[in-house]
Amino acid sequence: MQIDFTKKLLAWNRNQNKRPMPWKGETNPYRVWLSEIILQQTRVEQGTAYYEKFVAGFPTILDLAKASEKEIFKYWEGLGYYGRCRNLIATAKKIASEFKGHFPSSYAEILDLPGIGPYTASAIASFAFGLPYAVVDGNVERVLARYFGISAPVGSAAGKKLYTTLAGDLLDKKNPGIYNQAIMDFGATICKPQNPLCNICIQSKNCQAFQQGWINQLPVKTVPAIRKKRYLYYFIVPAGEDKIWIRERTGKDIWRNLYEFVLWETGKIIPQGKIMQAPFFKKNFGKLDFQIQYISPVFSQTLTHQSITGLFVHLNKPLFKLSGYQSVPRKSLQEYPFPKLITDYIKILPAI
Ligand code: SF4
Repeated sequence: MQIDFTKKLLAWNRNQNKRPMPWKGETNPYRVWLSEIILQQTRVEQGTAYYEKFVAGFPTILDLAKASEKEIFKYWEGLGYYGRCRNLIATAKKIASEFKGHFPSSYAEILDLPGIGPYTASAIASFAFGLPYAVVDGNVERVLARYFGISAPVGSAAGKKLYTTLAGDLLDKKNPGIYNQAIMDFGATICKPQNPLCNICIQSKNCQAFQQGWINQLPVKTVPAIRKKRYLYYFIVPAGEDKIWIRERTGKDIWRNLYEFVLWETGKIIPQGKIMQAPFFKKNFGKLDFQIQYISPVFSQTLTHQSITGLFVHLNKPLFKLSGYQSVPRKSLQEYPFPKLITDYIKILPAI
């Protein structure tokens, strides 16, 4: 049954798989790595433009290693999950300094790079170096769970072990890159999460989910965590001469290395009329007799474990000193990397 699965999958890949992706068949490890890091939490449709932008802007890993962090974050802006960008920078620097700019070619060395787990290491090892490591991502887990009728939850330790072992057994060891790409494409285009195309599927004869009517029950998922709610009030504080105060985020919180306006985080939505009475406002702006000139509509952004509500509060007059912040010309804001929530607002920033 396992050999039959692999044979049919490879035949489908040869004759019917038409899924286009700019990095398909790519064997340059730098480009494979770039595409895999971009796609870690991003859909192919969104990731493609970023991949092409990075390849054009930083043709080699040494170009990336030499670039400033601000520039790289600007390229990454809008992709989210900024930890990936920090790992990208750390990996580029590590390869430049420890491997003289040559991407390491063993699975263990690849796995040791920042931000690379077993999936990404297997993808790079198989696509770029032809090494026999099977990828296990959401697409692969779904195909295997349905075809073999596996009820172990995909996020559980037992599930991970089972899917990894099975994927390794099914792998075509002579053509691991082709096989890995084929099973991911198969999951993305045929054995889709919703409405899989079972009626045209080459695996349907031996597929347990299809034969037993379990398609909507498999794969079994672990219960998602409840999202924490956060409320961010950004004060747009003029700094004179058409400048605005911003700062780089530091610490261990979300969006580290991205920029932001003067931030006040609250535990709930504050009625507009009460913002000027709040201790944060009184402490920072009250003594200087600031007034609120404009409050934006609500902006929101959903992260894996957090749901963010943001509002932008414009003050009426400039502040000439603000510790921890830097003043930048309003027209230069586009040069800084911001979280999506703020980028969306900058696009429509009123000229107040
Ligand atoms: S028959 Fe349906 S559920 Fe089974 S592998 Fe094919 S597409 Fe997936």
